[in-house]
Amino acid sequence: MTAGHDLLITGACAVWTGLRGAEARLAGGQDIRIRAGRIAATGHLSPEPGERVLDARGGVVMPGWVNTHHHLFQSLLKGIPEGLDLDLMGWLSAVPVRWRRGFDQEHTLRLAARVGLVELLLSGCTTVSDHQYHLWPGMPWDPSAAVFDEAERLGVRMVLARGGQTVSRMVDTTPSPQVQPETLDQLLTGLARDVQRFHDPAPDAMRRVVCAPTTPTWSVLPDELDVIAREARALGVQLHSHLSETVDYVRYCREVHACTPLEFVERHGWVGPDVWYAHMVHLSPAEVQRCAETGTGIAHCPQSNGRLGSGVAPLVAALAAGVPVSLAVDGAASNEAADMLSEAHACWLIHRALHGAGALPVADVIHVGTAGGARVLGLDAVGTLRPGQAADLVIYDLDEPAHFGLHDPAVAPVVSGRGRARAVLVGGRVVVEDGAIPGLDLAELRAQAAAEVAALKTRLA
Ligand SMILES: [Zn+2]
Repeated sequence: MTAGHDLLITGACAVWTGLRGAEARLAGGQDIRIRAGRIAATGHLSPEPGERVLDARGGVVMPGWVNTHHHLFQSLLKGIPEGLDLDLMGWLSAVPVRWRRGFDQEHTLRLAARVGLVELLLSGCTTVSDHQYHLWPGMPWDPSAAVFDEAERLGVRMVLARGGQTVSRMVDTTPSPQVQPETLDQLLTGLARDVQRFHDPAPDAMRRVVCAPTTPTWSVLPDELDVIAREARALGVQLHSHLSETVDYVRYCREVHACTPLEFVERHGWVGPDVWYAHMVHLSPAEVQRCAETGTGIAHCPQSNGRLGSGVAPLVAALAAGVPVSLAVDGAASNEAADMLSEAHACWLIHRALHGAGALPVADVIHVGTAGGARVLGLDAVGTLRPGQAADLVIYDLDEPAHFGLHDPAVAPVVSGRGRARAVLVGGRVVVEDGAIPGLDLAELRAQAAAEVAALKTRLA
């Protein structure tokens, strides 16, 4: 990893800011000056003495993507045949719940996290929120420390959403020690310990901790939701979970709680500008409005929702209503392309397919995937490319045949879903250089992943 305090990025074809409308792209000069990890200036700039110049000629620059919902451990559970054609409930039983028990040693989680983070980093993603629910009572190793350490080694900004459950999920039919629930006290103690060790409230924090029981409906008791929200807020951390992913999810809440999932969580204090939910596929117009009124955020996961046949979240309506909306890849076991560029491409296409070609401009997709994500995560100094902001950005090369013949290079990464990250910076540090992660042997990582998949199969046989 190269630490670069004084940098000048020059000659890009186009620079996206992460903002919407007229401010979406830099006008009047495409150079970017970086000082002490922050963007110092943009415009027509000449190199200064002692400044390292990063050549962006032929490339497109934009803020690094902010992925607001992931399950990094699933990066070794891609394309499992038994779950490939199942919807959410069947897939949960066949894939993550069944295979979780194979993650009985730190090495496996670390390797999975590394694979997922490398994929994201090379796609231009600079901030990742990992919903880590692989926790069990008496766990002999420390998964939070492992995930933070893997992120730090790669230079990625990490928001660890500490998951977990106090009741067994109904899909878990053959429990093993690795899928046993925690008690409420264990869950809260574990959260407080993680907050104390890792949480940084700074607007450009490299490490954040979030309170995130796996689902509010099935993973904890309703009364516990109130306690958990109160404790998390007292610790100064945000709340996150899965909500309204499928028709079954909504039906369950209606039958058991006589309300919608959003009404259910609101009863227990789980809405507000410090709360965001993954999916939110099945929201009524009134619920979209309620999210806007309360500032409750959404992690939109179009590829995972497509893969599992769950539906399409009302992103366009939510964006228009002022809901904090963001983009996320979800786990790689339900999205074998767990990179932010293909996610943005899918997002761009699917809402136009539903609502017409004018429904979602490229600039809005970039805004949702960058500034939108930073807003949802409360990282106010991240997600936009403006003077004073953290220097988290990606330079895309447009050197694939898909990019030959372009009239406006700026739109290329999102409209084609392709783009090689020539360089990626996080807080001004060059973490991808010449299309590669310095010090990382991709062939070796591939071999390690293949060996671990074989070992997982043996352990579960
Ligand atoms: Zn998820």
